[in-house]
Amino acid sequence: MAKDHDRLDKLHRRFEVKPGTKVKLKNFDPGWAGGDELPKKVARTVADAELTDDVSDLAKAQELLYADRSRALLVIFQALDAAGKDGTIKHVMTGLNPQGVSVSSFKVPSVEEISHTFLWRYTQHLPERGMIGIFNRSYYEEVLVVRVHPEYLAPQKLPAKKFDDTFWRERYEDINAYERHLVRNGTEIVKFFLHISKEEQKKRFLERIDTPEKNWKFSAADLKERKLWDDYERAFEDALTATSTKEASWHIIPADNKWMMRALVASILAAKIQSLKLKHPELPKDEKAKLAAAKEELLREK
Ligand code: ATP
Ligand code: MG
Repeated sequence: MAKDHDRLDKLHRRFEVKPGTKVKLKNFDPGWAGGDELPKKVARTVADAELTDDVSDLAKAQELLYADRSRALLVIFQALDAAGKDGTIKHVMTGLNPQGVSVSSFKVPSVEEISHTFLWRYTQHLPERGMIGIFNRSYYEEVLVVRVHPEYLAPQKLPAKKFDDTFWRERYEDINAYERHLVRNGTEIVKFFLHISKEEQKKRFLERIDTPEKNWKFSAADLKERKLWDDYERAFEDALTATSTKEASWHIIPADNKWMMRALVASILAAKIQSLKLKHPELPKDEKAKLAAAKEELLREK
């Protein structure tokens, strides 16, 4: 099985958007389940084992991140409805120390939030050094849902006269500069686009409608957005192309098979933290001497 693990590990590179490449979503299969490299019949077993391993690797890596306190990790999830952001976050984070992780979900902005520049509300939820911060939706909504619905820009009272290609290019530039700033200052960033197919979304919507316990997950607004599928695809393609940088690249994760999606996300995250080569902090000599003195004192206690 170890060999298969290595294979899955290498495979995840194929889901990274190489900086400078133009993203065409039709070239990414949302139903991918191992491909030729990993026959589907073993893929599921491998993915499940991988998830268990990576979740445990992640837990160890998180401990180091927390002890080292020099880096933070920002994990961004973007997706269309029903792609499985919530479930993926839940699975990947099992085993993590809750003191070292925060999850922020971003919905329609409030009046106060919209009265500030477009990165303001997200900034307040960034993880501090030592922490993992998960963004369930993020500032990317400002170039995704807002691009599909430019009327959402009206309350922002922006100086721009037109919301044309130049306007959106400038937003991408702002995001890239913001992320560069974060990385330069010790916040590592991993970005996931959970890529679901239109057919699978339909299946999951129907399941939400047909299963009383899942009814709460369905909203009529989701169906309205589904009608704008092509617009969303274009907005994603543009945003992923423009904002996959060497500091913070995107991963396009096939989301039709939840088990594959979760295994890939866990594997990429574990690899990312391990690549930081963090170490448990070592005490300076005089501090070690103080430890030895404290030990002696404790042992002398009657
Ligand atoms: P999810 O769909 O992620 O599981 P949810 O169903 O619990 O979350 P919703 O009420 O659907 O929550 O809230 C998310 C909605 O908020 C989405 O439709 C999203 O596009 C919208 N949203 C998020 N950020 C913004 C923004 N900056 N401007 C406008 N709409 C936004
Ligand atoms: Mg929703």
